[in-house]
Amino acid sequence: MPELPEVETVARGLAKRVTGDVIESIWLGSKKEPLKSPAKLIARTLEKAQIATVRRVGKQIVFDLLSPEGTPRQWIVHLGMTGQMLVCPPDADIKKHTHAIAKLASGREIRFVDPRRFGRLSVASNGDFAGTGLEPLEINEDSFIKLFRGRKTPIKSALLNQKLLGGVGNIYADETLFRAGIRPRRRARSLTREQLRILRASLKQVLKEAIRLGGSSIADYVDADGEEGFFQLRHRVYGREGKLCYVCKSPIKRVVIAGRSSHYCPTCQR
Ligand SMILES: [Zn+2]
Repeated sequence: MPELPEVETVARGLAKRVTGDVIESIWLGSKKEPLKSPAKLIARTLEKAQIATVRRVGKQIVFDLLSPEGTPRQWIVHLGMTGQMLVCPPDADIKKHTHAIAKLASGREIRFVDPRRFGRLSVASNGDFAGTGLEPLEINEDSFIKLFRGRKTPIKSALLNQKLLGGVGNIYADETLFRAGIRPRRRARSLTREQLRILRASLKQVLKEAIRLGGSSIADYVDADGEEGFFQLRHRVYGREGKLCYVCKSPIKRVVIAGRSSHYCPTCQR
């Protein structure tokens, strides 16, 4: 499942390649699941629109568009588990499970490929999509502390709550808690201001490191060029149940919190 760093990497890759280009026409496949907005509305919103920017909002890729009349519109792509956004020349082979093709004025095409069909395409015809939750890379210290203070839920669940922070997933939540020295089951409200300060710093550090490495690839993951080859952040706890902690050599433990696997070091995390 692509998480924030992977989505950020794809959004940056797309921005580099298609900013300024114009969507001439759009082809949509016959499968209904990938279309969160009606097909006709998607086509009407995207066709003839110029791509002003491409950015990440939470775990979504957002194309900020301008209609020929200059009004804002948005194309929102959620990659789901296996979604890919490819930028290719028109004569490139069309992969199986291609659900949408946007033909660009430059001659290239943006293709949405998604074998497992958990990905979603939608549009905001008036350009008012904002996503949910605050941006983990932008949130300031006071807002971060306010967000978690007084919450009874385990801190791990609170980090994953998309209404609080947008885009933090299971892997990076575990890695963040390890670096902050906080156990995933700790109640959010039991954390001191200082611990929350450290938690925010750790979260930013983990996400930035992963973005720098190009997102860590867990599933079959491909960037905007269609090239595999993301470096994997060396996970310190995630997926390492029973293996020894790199810091203290204690075996890493795994617990299930709100249906999600959580990995932690019983010695380094309190
Ligand atoms: Zn340890």
